Amino acid sequence: MEAEYNKTTDAHESTQKKRSSRKHICKPFLFKVPSEIHGTGIFTQRDINKGEVFYDIPLKVLFHELRPRCAFIGNNSWVSDEEVLNYINHSCDPNTKLDLTIEPRLVAVRTIRMGEEITVDYNLTERGGNRVSCNCQSSNCGGYFLRKE
Ligand SMILES: [Zn+2]
Repeated sequence: MEAEYNKTTDAHESTQKKRSSRKHICKPFLFKVPSEIHGTGIFTQRDINKGEVFYDIPLKVLFHELRPRCAFIGNNSWVSDEEVLNYINHSCDPNTKLDLTIEPRLVAVRTIRMGEEITVDYNLTERGGNRVSCNCQSSNCGGYFLRKE
């Protein structure tokens, strides 16, 4: 683990490095607390740059069928990640996407400020689940999203 990774400043300076290597385990700056959107959410303790890959989904707990609380990661597979992914709330105006192009990982779709909740659009990646009413409070809220209870 490079020491630079724990810095909360100079984020722009190290962007190139982060893009060229995806070996960083970024959990130290992600934390769980109660969310205004729903239940418990994942928040960041530092700014995250637009385009930054900030979390690699651990693939230790995989299923090949629809399971509650698991995220669809393509190739008929669902992953359960109690550390981070299972707690990320849906937003119709998300700041993060689940990128499946190389390996499952989280990428910031805009600059995320220290203290913000990490959100993704479940409707983009989920397969199956029930429509539940959305409480994301964004101006373009679609009113519902898909979730497996
Ligand atoms: Zn919404």
